[in-house]
Amino acid sequence: MPNTPDEQLHPQLHFNSYGHYLRRRFGFRISKVNVDAGFTCPNRDGSKGTGGCIYCNNVSFSPKETQSVVPLEEQMAAGMTYHRIRLGSEKFIIYFQKYTNTYGSVELLADLYHRALDHPNVIGISVGTRPDSLSDGALDLLTDIARTKYVCLELGLQSMDDDILTRINRGHTLDDFIGTVTRAAGRNFDICAHLIHGFPGESAADFLKTAGLMAGLPINSLKLHQLHAVTGTELAELYRRGEFVPLTLEQYVTTVADFLELLPPRIAIQRLYGSAPLEISVAPRWGVKNNRMWYTIVNELTQRGSWQGRRAETSE
Ligand code: SF4
Repeated sequence: MPNTPDEQLHPQLHFNSYGHYLRRRFGFRISKVNVDAGFTCPNRDGSKGTGGCIYCNNVSFSPKETQSVVPLEEQMAAGMTYHRIRLGSEKFIIYFQKYTNTYGSVELLADLYHRALDHPNVIGISVGTRPDSLSDGALDLLTDIARTKYVCLELGLQSMDDDILTRINRGHTLDDFIGTVTRAAGRNFDICAHLIHGFPGESAADFLKTAGLMAGLPINSLKLHQLHAVTGTELAELYRRGEFVPLTLEQYVTTVADFLELLPPRIAIQRLYGSAPLEISVAPRWGVKNNRMWYTIVNELTQRGSWQGRRAETSE
């Protein structure tokens, strides 16, 4: 017996978009403002590894105005102005995005997070980090902030396959991710997982198993994107040697729609695809603008007459 659409789903998008989730939770539009707080990453500085993940070039996920040399407050002001003009947003979540944003002393983290939260229009923070870089002190700090503000902890998993994690030089395992989610659960803040589809040697069926993993964990939201190669990365070299064959747009859209069908409606979707600045993008280059990518996936669900969770296990 098929599930029926859930009230958590956006009525036109047919999935639980994060914007829709925030609006239901807070009652108004909220935008995320990305900042670069000047962190590095233990998978690049030698403490966990060197060279980083084979696809990592932080320029690819860092807007130009969020350079670490710019004071946090200036980055926030520029980002809030941008979203206010573009979308009419008046309330914001500050997203500590670049590199590993819990990789520092608790005192440093507390200073940065509280500086962001001091702004009267900031309702909370989102903190991106690795599953192997979250101390008990950092967890307690986030727990304390979550008593009065919105907090989302964003954990990069990327793949649930340990062989793939090794091949892409992630420097952590699936068990590390599950252990950290378990430690972070029940602390009254949201947990978001980051996933990538399209690794060499990964089939669509392999990737779709991740929906079941997410369904069984206390994950509140997901970010998903296709594996793409940008200049200056090992992945770009693999592509040039023919050892990384990017997904086609059709393959990606089909698999994402399948994934959404298998994912419980309670898990909000923060991102459905990735993009890199054209000047550093190597492959794939699908030639589809960002807003069209979003609607290409929405259209796939619509044409199927389907929705997020239609084929999910219904134990919740
Ligand atoms: S964990 Fe993130 S910042 Fe660190 S190397 Fe990998 S992609 Fe880059």
